[in-house]
Amino acid sequence: MSLPAQIDPRKLALQGICLEGEFAVKNLTRLKDSVEAVTGALKVSLQFSLDESRQPMVTGSASICVDVVCQRCLDIVNIEINTAIALQIIWSEDQLSNVAPNYEPWIVVDKFTDLDVVIEDEVLLALPIVNYHNIGECTGDAFDTKADTNLEEASIESPFSVLQQLKK
Ligand SMILES: [Zn+2]
Repeated sequence: MSLPAQIDPRKLALQGICLEGEFAVKNLTRLKDSVEAVTGALKVSLQFSLDESRQPMVTGSASICVDVVCQRCLDIVNIEINTAIALQIIWSEDQLSNVAPNYEPWIVVDKFTDLDVVIEDEVLLALPIVNYHNIGECTGDAFDTKADTNLEEASIESPFSVLQQLKK
Protein backbone atom coordinates (compact mmCIF):
# COMPACT_ATOMS: atom_id res chain seq x y z
CA MET A 1 0.00 0.00 0.00
CA SER A 2 1.32 3.41 -0.98
CA LEU A 3 0.93 5.87 1.88
CA PRO A 4 -0.32 9.46 1.59
CA ALA A 5 2.44 11.96 2.40
CA GLN A 6 0.04 14.57 3.81
CA ILE A 7 -1.66 13.50 7.01
CA ASP A 8 -3.43 14.99 10.00
CA PRO A 9 -1.39 13.25 12.74
CA ARG A 10 -3.53 14.44 15.68
CA LYS A 11 -6.66 13.06 14.08
CA LEU A 12 -4.91 9.76 13.36
CA ALA A 13 -3.80 9.63 17.01
CA LEU A 14 -7.32 10.36 18.26
CA GLN A 15 -8.66 7.57 16.06
CA GLY A 16 -5.85 5.18 17.02
CA ILE A 17 -4.97 4.52 13.40
CA CYS A 18 -2.21 2.10 12.35
CA LEU A 19 -0.51 3.02 9.09
CA GLU A 20 1.41 0.35 7.23
CA GLY A 21 2.83 0.76 3.77
CA GLU A 22 5.43 2.39 1.60
CA PHE A 23 6.52 5.85 0.55
CA ALA A 24 7.57 6.67 -3.01
CA VAL A 25 11.36 6.88 -3.25
CA LYS A 26 11.26 9.78 -5.72
CA ASN A 27 10.34 12.23 -2.94
CA LEU A 28 13.24 11.21 -0.67
CA THR A 29 15.67 13.72 -2.14
CA ARG A 30 17.74 14.26 1.00
CA LEU A 31 18.25 10.53 1.50
CA LYS A 32 19.14 10.13 -2.19
CA ASP A 33 21.79 12.84 -1.81
CA SER A 34 23.27 11.04 1.22
CA VAL A 35 23.78 7.60 -0.38
CA GLU A 36 24.90 6.17 -3.72
CA ALA A 37 21.41 4.88 -4.53
CA VAL A 38 18.10 4.08 -2.88
CA THR A 39 17.34 0.50 -3.89
CA GLY A 40 13.99 -0.16 -2.24
CA ALA A 41 10.83 1.52 -1.04
CA LEU A 42 10.64 3.23 2.35
CA LYS A 43 8.54 0.80 4.36
CA VAL A 44 6.83 1.99 7.51
CA SER A 45 4.63 0.58 10.21
CA LEU A 46 3.26 3.30 12.48
CA GLN A 47 0.77 3.26 15.33
CA PHE A 48 -0.85 6.61 16.12
CA SER A 49 -2.31 6.85 19.61
CA LEU A 50 -3.02 9.06 22.62
CA ASP A 51 -1.04 8.40 25.77
CA GLU A 52 -2.58 8.48 29.27
CA SER A 53 -2.42 12.29 29.35
CA ARG A 54 -4.00 12.42 25.86
CA GLN A 55 -0.81 13.48 24.11
CA PRO A 56 -0.65 12.35 20.46
CA MET A 57 2.12 9.80 19.95
CA VAL A 58 3.50 7.80 17.03
CA THR A 59 5.44 4.57 17.51
CA GLY A 60 6.65 1.97 15.05
CA SER A 61 9.45 1.35 12.63
CA ALA A 62 10.82 2.31 9.22
CA SER A 63 13.16 0.45 6.90
CA ILE A 64 14.78 1.02 3.52
CA CYS A 65 17.58 -0.54 1.45
CA VAL A 66 20.32 1.72 0.11
CA ASP A 67 23.63 1.41 -1.73
CA VAL A 68 26.56 2.99 0.11
CA VAL A 69 30.34 2.86 -0.29
CA CYS A 70 32.24 0.22 1.69
CA GLN A 71 35.07 2.03 3.49
CA ARG A 72 37.33 -1.04 3.23
CA CYS A 73 37.18 -1.76 -0.52
CA LEU A 74 35.47 1.39 -1.82
CA ASP A 75 32.98 -0.75 -3.74
CA ILE A 76 29.22 -0.47 -3.33
CA VAL A 77 27.57 -2.34 -0.47
CA ASN A 78 23.81 -2.66 -0.11
CA ILE A 79 22.59 -2.14 3.44
CA GLU A 80 19.18 -2.09 5.07
CA ILE A 81 18.48 0.78 7.43
CA ASN A 82 16.05 -0.16 10.19
CA THR A 83 14.96 2.40 12.70
CA ALA A 84 12.50 2.50 15.55
CA ILE A 85 10.11 5.45 15.60
CA ALA A 86 8.91 7.06 18.83
CA LEU A 87 7.54 10.56 18.36
CA GLN A 88 5.34 12.87 20.38
CA ILE A 89 3.40 15.43 18.34
CA ILE A 90 3.62 18.96 19.73
CA TRP A 91 2.49 22.38 18.44
CA SER A 92 5.66 24.37 19.07
CA GLU A 93 9.07 24.40 20.74
CA ASP A 94 7.36 25.79 23.87
CA GLN A 95 6.08 22.28 24.51
CA LEU A 96 9.49 20.57 24.24
CA SER A 97 9.63 20.15 28.04
CA ASN A 98 6.37 18.15 27.89
CA VAL A 99 7.84 15.47 25.64
CA ALA A 100 7.80 12.08 27.32
CA PRO A 101 11.07 10.27 28.10
CA ASN A 102 12.29 8.08 25.20
CA TYR A 103 10.20 10.07 22.72
CA GLU A 104 11.42 12.61 20.20
CA PRO A 105 9.44 15.79 19.58
CA TRP A 106 7.62 16.08 16.26
CA ILE A 107 6.62 19.72 15.87
CA VAL A 108 3.48 19.97 13.73
CA VAL A 109 2.35 23.61 13.49
CA ASP A 110 -0.57 23.06 11.10
CA LYS A 111 -3.37 20.54 10.89
CA PHE A 112 -1.69 18.66 8.07
CA THR A 113 1.96 17.75 7.74
CA ASP A 114 4.27 15.70 5.52
CA LEU A 115 4.68 12.28 7.10
CA ASP A 116 7.37 11.22 4.62
CA VAL A 117 9.58 14.19 5.62
CA VAL A 118 9.66 13.24 9.31
CA ILE A 119 10.22 9.56 8.51
CA GLU A 120 13.03 10.52 6.11
CA ASP A 121 14.57 12.51 9.00
CA GLU A 122 14.49 9.38 11.17
CA VAL A 123 16.10 7.27 8.44
CA LEU A 124 18.84 9.88 7.89
CA LEU A 125 19.59 9.85 11.62
CA ALA A 126 19.87 6.05 11.52
CA LEU A 127 22.18 6.02 8.48
CA PRO A 128 25.59 4.70 9.64
CA ILE A 129 28.48 7.15 9.13
CA VAL A 130 30.79 4.40 7.86
CA ASN A 131 29.73 1.18 6.18
CA TYR A 132 31.48 -2.11 5.43
CA HIS A 133 30.71 -5.34 3.62
CA ASN A 134 30.14 -8.36 5.81
CA ILE A 135 33.28 -10.36 6.54
CA GLY A 136 34.00 -12.61 3.53
CA GLU A 137 31.94 -10.46 1.15
CA CYS A 138 34.39 -7.61 0.89
CA THR A 139 36.50 -7.43 -2.26
CA GLY A 140 38.99 -5.21 -0.52
CA ASP A 141 41.94 -7.54 -1.11
CA ALA A 142 45.06 -6.78 -3.14
CA PHE A 143 44.04 -8.80 -6.22
CA ASP A 144 41.95 -7.77 -9.16
CA THR A 145 39.26 -10.47 -9.23
CA LYS A 146 38.76 -9.99 -12.98
CA ALA A 147 42.41 -10.79 -13.67
CA ASP A 148 42.12 -13.89 -11.47
CA THR A 149 39.16 -15.18 -13.50
CA ASN A 150 41.06 -14.73 -16.74
CA LEU A 151 43.98 -16.68 -15.31
CA GLU A 152 41.71 -19.58 -14.32
CA GLU A 153 40.10 -19.69 -17.75
CA ALA A 154 43.50 -19.72 -19.37
CA SER A 155 44.71 -22.63 -17.24
CA ILE A 156 41.52 -24.62 -17.96
CA GLU A 157 41.87 -24.11 -21.69
CA SER A 158 45.51 -25.10 -21.95
CA PRO A 159 45.20 -28.92 -21.42
CA PHE A 160 42.74 -29.15 -24.32
CA SER A 161 44.81 -27.06 -26.62
CA VAL A 162 47.80 -29.30 -25.81
CA LEU A 163 45.68 -32.44 -26.61
CA GLN A 164 44.52 -30.93 -29.87
CA GLN A 165 48.06 -30.21 -30.82
CA LEU A 166 49.02 -33.84 -30.07
CA LYS A 167 46.17 -35.16 -32.29
CA LYS A 168 47.44 -33.13 -35.17
ZN1 LIG B 1 34.01 -3.97 0.99
